[in-house]
Amino acid sequence: MTPAGPLLPMPTPELVMFDLDYTLLRPSDQFEAPGYVRTGARFGLELDAAHWPLAEHAAYAAARERRRRTGLVHDDGLLPVIAHAIIEGLGGGPPGAVEQTAAAIVDAWGRAENFGLYDDVLPCLGVLRSAGVRMALVSNALGHGLEEVVAHFALDDFICAGVSSASVGVVKPAAALFEAVLVSLDVAAAAAVMVGDSVEDDVKGALACGCGAILLDRNGRVSGAPLPRIESLAELPAALSI
Ligand SMILES: [Mg+2]
Repeated sequence: MTPAGPLLPMPTPELVMFDLDYTLLRPSDQFEAPGYVRTGARFGLELDAAHWPLAEHAAYAAARERRRRTGLVHDDGLLPVIAHAIIEGLGGGPPGAVEQTAAAIVDAWGRAENFGLYDDVLPCLGVLRSAGVRMALVSNALGHGLEEVVAHFALDDFICAGVSSASVGVVKPAAALFEAVLVSLDVAAAAAVMVGDSVEDDVKGALACGCGAILLDRNGRVSGAPLPRIESLAELPAALSI
């Protein structure tokens, strides 16, 4: 398979750092329109799935505004803000029911069983491991802990280190997260590559630390961006000259 982006392939790194959510982990439909409608119904809300695009847009805006105020501090309040924005965007209802629905969604986000691995994850990790590349997790962990995720998906054969914003206290793109992994594994920044789905958090954050970075653009939304970019982890080995 041919890498989709420019600037690829790059030299094989010593270390590949992966983002979790929407990179390795696929959230279930619990966190999309059907799940919100189901959860809302448990508390008497009649949410309208047809409003999902607008609700999602409102959630992005609310998250951006929240981060503008909090800066790069790890923020356990972000998920409730996103859940509230989506519920209101889907029609909302009495404040108590909205609150209960949001709390149930936030609780569900904290459990690994509500996520799956994308189909391309294990084959990719296997190829990288065979090539002698070490792998680590760098996550703005909202809800689920890294140890729980590694255990639940039996990733311990592949992942040799992990750093989450919950433990470091700041979120990507802050350098402290990337540097914590590099220091713990004694790898130079130039010998590491970050792979994630966020241009701001994963790609720009890693580049600012002197690491390489590849955007995983699963939905092809960022085509044309002047940065190394793949649309599937099946493309990653070739993108890393493996
Ligand atoms: Mg992500």
